[in-house]
Amino acid sequence: MVHQDDLKKCDRCGSNLCYSPEPIQGKDLIRNYYCFGCGFNTNSICKVDSEFYNQQMTLLPDLYKDLAGEDGEGKVWLPAFVQSEKGMLYADGTNGDNWAYCAIKMIPTTEEDDELIRKEKYKPDNSSKRFFSEANFKDALFYLGMVEDEEYLTLVKSELGISL
Ligand SMILES: [Zn+2]
Repeated sequence: MVHQDDLKKCDRCGSNLCYSPEPIQGKDLIRNYYCFGCGFNTNSICKVDSEFYNQQMTLLPDLYKDLAGEDGEGKVWLPAFVQSEKGMLYADGTNGDNWAYCAIKMIPTTEEDDELIRKEKYKPDNSSKRFFSEANFKDALFYLGMVEDEEYLTLVKSELGISL
């Protein structure tokens, strides 16, 4: 559930669509930032040379490393990588100058699928694959049905001047 109060100005793209709830009191107090405007994410410990950052860098595909960029506070932003029962959404391309968000819807697996695939409830439907530019990240979320919250929808619509 996205609360309007948790939407802030994005330190990366400047839109007012950065979802960043107050961290829940706990041991680490890491603050997460998910921007629905540009689709990039970061958190308060994702800074160059931090342990978290170095670990990310060993795991990420080259395109993600290419697109990683610091904001004024030194937080390093990376493109979204989402995988849920609704779909997959990730940055796809050859390099930082030539890429787009790739969105693929999920469909239920069937008896005819290979054994390995049948173990899962859902599989990607490659015929639904569509590409969205960084500026159209929100459209990819709508395409995959990942945005359902009414309050958020209203805000996005007024912020972006779109009618859906
Ligand atoms: Zn942004």
